[in-house]
Amino acid sequence: MTVSDDLFARALRLIPGGVNSPVRAFRSVGGAPFFVKSARGATLTTADGRELIDFVCTWGPAIHGHNHPRIKAAIAAALDHGTSFGTPNPYEVEMAELITRFVPSIQKVRMCNSGTEATMSAIRLARGFTRRDKIIKFAGCYHGHSDALLIKAGSGALTHGHPDSAGVPASVAQDTVVIPYNDCAALDAAFAANPGQIACVIVEPYCGNVGFIMPDAGWLQHLRIVTAQHGALLIYDEVMTGFRLHKAGVQGLESEECTLHSESIQHTNSIPLPPAAHSALRTPHSALVVQSVLPDLTCLGKIIGGGLPVGAFGGRADVMDMLAPIGPVYQAGTLSGNPLAMAAGIAALRLLDEENPYARLDALGRRVRDAVLAAAKAKGLPVQVPQCGSMFSIFFTSTPVRDYATALTGDATLFTKFFHTCLAKGVYLAPSAYEAAFLSTAHAGSAIDRACEVMSEAINGL
Ligand SMILES: *Cc1c(COP(=O)(O)O)cnc(C)c1O
Repeated sequence: MTVSDDLFARALRLIPGGVNSPVRAFRSVGGAPFFVKSARGATLTTADGRELIDFVCTWGPAIHGHNHPRIKAAIAAALDHGTSFGTPNPYEVEMAELITRFVPSIQKVRMCNSGTEATMSAIRLARGFTRRDKIIKFAGCYHGHSDALLIKAGSGALTHGHPDSAGVPASVAQDTVVIPYNDCAALDAAFAANPGQIACVIVEPYCGNVGFIMPDAGWLQHLRIVTAQHGALLIYDEVMTGFRLHKAGVQGLESEECTLHSESIQHTNSIPLPPAAHSALRTPHSALVVQSVLPDLTCLGKIIGGGLPVGAFGGRADVMDMLAPIGPVYQAGTLSGNPLAMAAGIAALRLLDEENPYARLDALGRRVRDAVLAAAKAKGLPVQVPQCGSMFSIFFTSTPVRDYATALTGDATLFTKFFHTCLAKGVYLAPSAYEAAFLSTAHAGSAIDRACEVMSEAINGL
């Protein structure tokens, strides 16, 4: 019996399913999970001493690789001063300054302890601000596990075949309207069917929780325009994409793209957009268009905690000022703004600021994509490899993947075989066909060479 098997047997007796988050249990790919005793750079070391090249990166946070010396030093320095004060601390201010500087649509920000808290609180805030109850989300978008959002969610909920969790009251679910991602007509219809009732639309602007899916051209602009027309708030859930694809997340990436195509888009707006958006504009020409992809509120997490538990939500000052203690929308947290988590996150963000690694990460992502596509072509196997920067996924299907339904056309049996072959050869991908893969700056060099080789061999052996 391996050390991992022994630990898992003990865990199964005391922890439901042996894990503290469902996808870790390997249910969708079969077999028992391995336990990790340490991680460094791109490598996990299992309790049995195996070394694995890690494409999960703790589900996104580890963009600098595991246990980066700068982040470790920042946590150690903070630890010297104490672990929690229950009062405001200086790190919180620095974190808020960094987030608002990087993400122009965020004028004010509130820290919390997880992505789930961030989205849950942003929804409450949107409801309080608009005095409306209904929300729109997209099938396959995962926004954490709060009741209102655990409806047709992707990720672990999808993997386990229960997109709708038991225990979510029908009375709560009925206020969540779920429509397909990338479907403008369905969005228009949802607004038409619920006039004056939609508080907000929440979206992963690039989906990372049914595998990785990119928006069709014009989709995010359409979301912006329609929400503005109906007086609903647009919430970008950038818990996964924030600071991963660009310093300003998807909204930063898309704003750059839009600036290039500015003439084609008409913008109408019934609610004011953040002044920060205007000050971020470089040329008058781009003004109209940059506005058109900026959300009212943004949810963050993962990378901003540098590997410690963190979430945040922020956006327009007039909306954020509805929060307690100055407004009527209550939101709180005993450990929110925790000094260790802030110190780790600040170090992670400063590193991104200094290194601006996004072009390098995209080159790594392209290498993996090209290797997988080439191997699949040689094998005569249809695959889709959506990739942007350090995020990608591999769907074994000939159907272009652009929403939940097309993601499900991926052959899960092939994925499972591919997953286990890679794992046996030392490359760890997420244990589900419906999760994105992540790269870190530490994957450069021999890790990426080896991983491309292993993935190509695995595809060849399918
Ligand atoms: C991970 C994730 C969440 C939930 O964050 P937790 O910290 O796991 O609660 C929410 N939204 C998106 C897009 C995520 O990827």
